Amino acid sequence: MAHKKTDTVRDLLRADLLLEVTCAACRRLSRFAPSDLAGMYGMETRTARLRWRCTACGGTAVVLSSAKREEVFPRRPPPTPPRPLGG
Ligand SMILES: [Zn+2]
Repeated sequence: MAHKKTDTVRDLLRADLLLEVTCAACRRLSRFAPSDLAGMYGMETRTARLRWRCTACGGTAVVLSSAKREEVFPRRPPPTPPRPLGG
């Protein structure tokens, strides 16, 4: 798997990746859309420079990773066409 550059919010946005933040203490996983991060911190912010606090245990030590949006939120299959009642 080719290593993609995912240092900044812009990189995540370009690669259509979600930022995953895992609490080192309790393993709680939070995911962030880069578009939200861009609004809060700006496009050039390096994700490693952000400060995180776990909402579950208050821990500040986290492990950062990223995930393909498609794998986290798969596109819904098309709706099945309605079938006639009775028949
Ligand atoms: Zn935690």
